[in-house]
Amino acid sequence: MSRIETHVGDITRLTVDAIVNAANSSLLGGGGVDGAIHRAAGPDLLRECRLLNGCKTGDAKITAGYDLPARHVIHTVGPVWHGGTEGEPGLLASCYESSLRLAAANNCRTVAFPAISTGIYGYPTGLAAETAVGTIRNTLEELPDIETVTLVAFDDAAHAYLLKALERKED
Ligand code: ADP
Repeated sequence: MSRIETHVGDITRLTVDAIVNAANSSLLGGGGVDGAIHRAAGPDLLRECRLLNGCKTGDAKITAGYDLPARHVIHTVGPVWHGGTEGEPGLLASCYESSLRLAAANNCRTVAFPAISTGIYGYPTGLAAETAVGTIRNTLEELPDIETVTLVAFDDAAHAYLLKALERKED
């Protein structure tokens, strides 16, 4: 049975052990899903983020979820898309892998991801979905305690790309 699910909607509403934030390297808040997570979590999230000293592209750091239904937020920094020749696929894969390992290390069994890098950072949605699904599948093989990973699409078009990637990888 697949441990990867999809969901269309707002990631801040999900009751899971951890939601992943597509943050920027300062971890001090931004637009898109980052802004939505900080608004829903309340000001204590920013207070904790200030103590983390930023985050490198491809890495992940964890905080509490504060006013969110999720217990934790895992902040990861996706690559800015420069055409695909500057290591973007490896860095995006590293975001998913680092986030899942950090989730497992913090006893999170259910984790939800947004489509990292596909908004302001310009990563093509279809390519990003392929990397997300492939990396999550591989990483989950080493992390038996993670029960479910939910890939959250903000709209139906993004959802279609996720479904396509999930279908292809099941071949
Ligand atoms: P990045 O800077 O990594 O590109 P963005 O926040 O701009 O991050 O976008 C990442 C993805 O998150 C985009 O596909 C965007 O549509 C989606 N998104 C924005 N707000 C939300 C939300 N509240 N819940 C889930 N996904 C969201």
